[in-house]
Amino acid sequence: MSVDGIATIRYLTTTSFGFGASLLLDGVLAELGIGHPLVVTDPGVRAAGIADGVVDAARDSGRFTWFDHTPPNPTEAAVLEATEVFRASGCDGIVAIGGGSSIDLAKGVALMATHPGPLVDYAAVNGGVERITSRVAPTIAIPTTAGTGSEVGRAAMINVDGRKLDFMSPYLFPARALCDPALTLELPPYLTAATGMDALTHCLETYLSPLVNPPAEAIALDGVERVARWIATATAEGQNREARWNMMMASTEGALTFQKGLGAVHAMAHPLGALEGLPLHHGTLNAVLLPAVLRFNEPAAPAKFDRLRAVVGAQGELGAWVVELNVRLGLPAGLAAVGVPADVVPRIAAAAEQDPATETNARPATQADYEELLRSSMGS
Ligand SMILES: [Zn+2]
Repeated sequence: MSVDGIATIRYLTTTSFGFGASLLLDGVLAELGIGHPLVVTDPGVRAAGIADGVVDAARDSGRFTWFDHTPPNPTEAAVLEATEVFRASGCDGIVAIGGGSSIDLAKGVALMATHPGPLVDYAAVNGGVERITSRVAPTIAIPTTAGTGSEVGRAAMINVDGRKLDFMSPYLFPARALCDPALTLELPPYLTAATGMDALTHCLETYLSPLVNPPAEAIALDGVERVARWIATATAEGQNREARWNMMMASTEGALTFQKGLGAVHAMAHPLGALEGLPLHHGTLNAVLLPAVLRFNEPAAPAKFDRLRAVVGAQGELGAWVVELNVRLGLPAGLAAVGVPADVVPRIAAAAEQDPATETNARPATQADYEELLRSSMGS
């Protein structure tokens, strides 16, 4: 580690964490001065009764307006539609209840309800970071999965014209996060495993990022340890409260830590996730890309790999440990198994090399490296 240079260390969102945390919604709304919230959620979370459960527990649930059709990957069209509902109903804040998609969509609405148009002007690649101001509408994030950690993150990924764009600003941090593991007790095994692998990937990639941020590394290691210890139990025994608590903590930790930068897994998962006609789950992509990237990165950070092996209790190679874990969790064996055709490899490799996450990979990765990593992640 270098002792030259200046680290940026930032922890902002006030988080209430624990079984029953979502019951604090009333008090938090009052604290933030939100009288008429827009609830942003998705059809699955609504159908499962989770979002209604949270809202019904709050006082005067008639003052909540609903937007309950967040798509699996948030799009500009959905942001604009929800923004219209926000405006038409005179809302003054947002309560996002769901996975990363609903929380990211809510961030888009919080932005567009208070800033002049087009959304694309606020994308990080278009210099949008500077244009996002403190006028952003207050958002309370209540996660129902344990993976993305978007509830404590300052970024939103939104599809604009077929491209997954990053919107980033300190003003996009939710004003409050209510992390209630009770809301994940019914999460099906496959989603538990896939979202949990996203949390693991956040912690691993952040820990291996070459930027200097020791608190972020400490958080990342703690998150890795929790996932290694609990993901199989949470997947096999959904009602296990201790497992659900630990997976949600690992997810929150993953997002607290990834300000230190992600790496090659996310650099490839982003363009793969934007492939048209293939709605690929972000966590599943990470799970199948991790082994090859870990093998590629190990020579660049051997001491950190030793530390990680000790934390997860792996004897041999870390990539092999992940492969075995994927099998145990019932996750796919490779990109081919989730329907990624071999002919997209050059295109995805080119996009991965341009992805901001590339910059903080443990080892510099070229387009040719990405082609190799993608080919070896295809599986048979
Ligand atoms: Zn991720």
